[in-house]
Amino acid sequence: MIVMKFGGTSNKDAAAISNVIRIVTAHLPLCPVVVISAIAKATNELEQAARTAAAGDAEGAVQLLGTLFARHDGILEDLLRDRNRIATLREPFAAWFGELRQLVQGVAILRELTPRTMDAFCSYGERLSSRIVAAGLEESGVKSAWIDAREFMITDDNFGLARPLMEEVTERLERVARPLIDRGQVPVTQGFIGVTRTGVYTTMGRESSDYSASIIGAAMNAERVQIWTDVDGILTADPRMVNDVRKVKRMSFEEAFELSYFGAKVLHPSTMLPLLEKNIPVEIRNSRTREGTGTLVDLPSADGAALVKSIAFKPAVTVVSVSPRKRLGQYLFWEGVFSVLQRWEINAGNVSTSEYTIAFTYDGSGDIDALARQLEEHGNVTVMGGKGSVCIVGSSLRGCTGLLNRVFNALAGVSISMVAYGASGLNVTVVMDGAQVPDALARLHKEFFGAEERSDVFGVPFN
Ligand code: ADP
Ligand code: ASP
Ligand code: MG
Repeated sequence: MIVMKFGGTSNKDAAAISNVIRIVTAHLPLCPVVVISAIAKATNELEQAARTAAAGDAEGAVQLLGTLFARHDGILEDLLRDRNRIATLREPFAAWFGELRQLVQGVAILRELTPRTMDAFCSYGERLSSRIVAAGLEESGVKSAWIDAREFMITDDNFGLARPLMEEVTERLERVARPLIDRGQVPVTQGFIGVTRTGVYTTMGRESSDYSASIIGAAMNAERVQIWTDVDGILTADPRMVNDVRKVKRMSFEEAFELSYFGAKVLHPSTMLPLLEKNIPVEIRNSRTREGTGTLVDLPSADGAALVKSIAFKPAVTVVSVSPRKRLGQYLFWEGVFSVLQRWEINAGNVSTSEYTIAFTYDGSGDIDALARQLEEHGNVTVMGGKGSVCIVGSSLRGCTGLLNRVFNALAGVSISMVAYGASGLNVTVVMDGAQVPDALARLHKEFFGAEERSDVFGVPFN
């Protein structure tokens, strides 16, 4: 079997969903499990409604939700012909709207929005879209079965960033999804959402439907996981930022992880983790073209050649540096700083050290001033906001002769705040003023891909 995940732009309207149905139908011999994201922007709108309610504006929140549900209803009308099918779907949709209204009232009265409540709001996006896709498949003659993720995606209770409990997920998928596949049905379920052992909805972080697909793929020992999105695969840079990008035909799990960790939105960074252990390849494909092979992410190639494959960026990061007031022992100082990062559950993007100073980049949404106050207990803290980072990713970059020369030549004139190189051998990251990021990205792309000849690794995107 395979897992096929379709992102928000792939579901954005009836025409896009018809395409999804055609793609799934073409893959029926491979026994797909289909994972669906919320339709484009729906999760943002659900979050906005939740915040509007928390500000005490229950009416405004319900209005926002009404517009979102009307958008789904419009898709139903455009996609489906069978009036009974439409009427049948409108029942749960009306019930969900009722539940959301109650949630809005509760939040507006308390003026309190916990991560748990936010997850409850967000869970409706994927439930709505996946029901529409399941109904569309059914109407086109595919035997589909809608499965609520609450039946199998058991997670911890870290709301907003929940992690799957893999043993339970595996056991439940065997019980819930496997028999459907054995009967020739196509299970259709939701990305992004899960449920605690006690049945409370959770989410696994924004953009995490890719991760849901890979959790299901790993749990069910899929042959492969397909991520269907709005680009032809992993490209040499974000096409929204750089012209003349090329498609990367193949990449290793680690390279894809680094690329997404350092900002490339095309895959959620956690996607690779469950698959790497079982060596299940991921394919990134374009849901608009259907042709082509996309990008294959699997084991690294054996040739060990140094090659830059793609460039990621983060438009907004903060550099925080800490220097101890007294030099009592470097290891004690480091322990103090890292214990704060641990308490705050901070994943520093890059870390750079001198004998006694630690600088790290942070791009999360935590309260940076409060973080700085805690770090002050361990030394003098400097916070530099308004920075951005550019990260080139590829194979065997550590020790690659002339690589840094090329990077620094391409970035001549850019004022660089921090450089990270060598830890994994898979990337070089340069931190600079945020305003310089677009230009730096274009210059590095020209340097590394301007005259790229490796047709075994790079290809021309279709659009
Ligand atoms: P989906 O809704 O299908 O999950 P996303 O918007 O999350 O889609 O991811 C696809 C987007 O990722 C592309 O439209 C593109 O702008 C962006 N992107 C960023 N970096 C890259 C890259 N290196 N290769 C391809 N796409 C990239
Ligand atoms: N719908 C969720 C989001 O927008 C998850 C996803 O699309 O991957 O973050
Ligand atoms: Mg995505």
